[in-house]
Amino acid sequence: MAQKKVKPRISSLPLENTHKKQEKAFVKDNVLVYNRCLSVNELAKYLNLNPTDIIKFLFMNKKMVAINDTLSEDDMGVICLEFGFDFEKEDEVSLENFEHIKLVDNPKDLKPRPPVVTVMGHVDHGKTTLIDAIRSTHVVETEVGGISQAIGAYQKEINGQKITFIDTPGHEAFTAMRSRGAAITDIVVLVVAADDSVMPQTKEAIDHAKAANVPVIVAINKIDKVGINVEKVKSDLTSLGIIPEEYGGENLFVEVSAKQKIGIDNLLEAILLVSEMKELKANPNRYAIGTVIEAKLDKGEGPKATLLIENGTLKFQDFVVVGSSYGKIRKMTNDQQKVLKSAGPSTPVSIIGLSEVPHAGDPFIALDNEKTAREIATLRRLVKEDEARGEVQSASIEDLYSRLKEQNLQFINVIIKADTTGSAEAIRGALEKLDVGGVKVNILSHGPGAITEGDILLASTSDAIVYGFNVRPNAVVQARALEEKVEIRLHRIIYALIEEMEKALRGQLKVEKVEKVNATAEVRETFSASKLGTIAGSYITSGVMKNNQSVRLIRNSIVVYEGKISSMKRFKDDVKEAREGYECGIVLEKYNDIKQGDIIEGYEMVDKK
Ligand code: GDP
Repeated sequence: MAQKKVKPRISSLPLENTHKKQEKAFVKDNVLVYNRCLSVNELAKYLNLNPTDIIKFLFMNKKMVAINDTLSEDDMGVICLEFGFDFEKEDEVSLENFEHIKLVDNPKDLKPRPPVVTVMGHVDHGKTTLIDAIRSTHVVETEVGGISQAIGAYQKEINGQKITFIDTPGHEAFTAMRSRGAAITDIVVLVVAADDSVMPQTKEAIDHAKAANVPVIVAINKIDKVGINVEKVKSDLTSLGIIPEEYGGENLFVEVSAKQKIGIDNLLEAILLVSEMKELKANPNRYAIGTVIEAKLDKGEGPKATLLIENGTLKFQDFVVVGSSYGKIRKMTNDQQKVLKSAGPSTPVSIIGLSEVPHAGDPFIALDNEKTAREIATLRRLVKEDEARGEVQSASIEDLYSRLKEQNLQFINVIIKADTTGSAEAIRGALEKLDVGGVKVNILSHGPGAITEGDILLASTSDAIVYGFNVRPNAVVQARALEEKVEIRLHRIIYALIEEMEKALRGQLKVEKVEKVNATAEVRETFSASKLGTIAGSYITSGVMKNNQSVRLIRNSIVVYEGKISSMKRFKDDVKEAREGYECGIVLEKYNDIKQGDIIEGYEMVDKK
């Protein structure tokens, strides 16, 4: 039998410079490429100079060096420029940090790849319906068993061209990926219901797409409804910087009805058009690298993950490192449950063969041998454990100043959430006016409402501080902020908020006391007593609530009262405190408007560590 000729894939070590542990320097096209500081002698050799030329030059610049002295990076740069060379430092990237490797493909090897699309928009505007409508168009009932399965993403073919859709709609998933360093989306389809126009999450989606620098195509949905106003949607979006071509902008707008499957083809064509303009390309002839879209433990098959291949080709029986585990691909299927031998760039595939269930957003890389895969996975696990032990502290507002200095930043990103539109606007206006020695505040988003997980994710990906004005994050959001190391600052006086930011920018901020929540309670019933006022029949959900302690009353994430507990009762008796899991009656000082479902949060001021 004739042997089939196969083109060998580029080694899974994607670059020669992935092993940059070794020191190196060379000159190519008059550019000095180096990864460590060189001595006078070494540099002279690379630049084809006499070492005395360098010594003389530095002497003229009031610097004395000897032939074997190591030069600083600055000096190396100045010397290169003086003698007609450019210079470039290569970042140290080793294979265990493969997500940071910049793949450099020869342009000759690049082939067009399908765009990866995420659908975003306000709740109930029809994201899910649209994703389903797209999925069910152009279905060719050919193969047996070709039932489409939810694997987190699917591919659609139109006019012979493919488009990859991520199944999870909404910016939470999009940003969750981005916050893990995975910028997988090429195009955002923003769904806006024609009968509702722009809503808070529409704005959030725009903020996220802009922050990620991803083009937006607008799908004006529900055009089958009567009494809708398409023009209003266009002008509302225009005021947010998403501008239709007819108004001189560069965003494509497509009118659709997801429910009645009208305009779906136009939308797909618009996606292909934008994709063509972006010239999305990848090299199919290398080992695959990409991101986990979703993963689960399958009862029968074990850990099962959907991978999105970003570059290269993934093959059956390839070794893969996923997150910090590794395995060999035992079976690979597409969204139609078809078994694949190989899958190219932008293809979502479901694989089995991993030793553990990875996380969505984890990066993966395919390798040609098990030994390397095991080594990389082990190293990555060690790093992860180390990080967990070391618990890197968040960049807080107190060290904002040193961060600005260190990184030479010209602005600081801020997200504002406030109790009313008016206060959000006022804070935005005041913060935008701040200018401390050229350093300014850049408002990523602002608006009324509770601080959400979406805000935390946007902050985490954009290195922003979240300001809450008279609003509080709930426990889930607080936990998320801790996990993402995002600082949330809460204020009740606009002036104090502005002053704090100004001081931070000046490096004058010294906060010695910080607030610590020591107990929370849920109001389950209320009673009125003629002498005491309203008694809140409460259940302590965490900590120990004490009589006379400072508390705030929170309703729908908004602070409605701030003060003290004036008395606490269990049955008929006054008590000093109540612990988690117990019920008690709480009376607030000079406040009676307590409602069922309110949260009482007890806090104290403690020294900041
Ligand atoms: P999501 O929250 O954005 O995912 O929205 P859904 O896809 O769940 O849709 C919300 C509601 O709008 C559902 O009742 C849909 O049936 C309805 N809907 C979605 N698209 C259309 C449409 O094109 N026309 C009409 N009339 N209703 C739609």
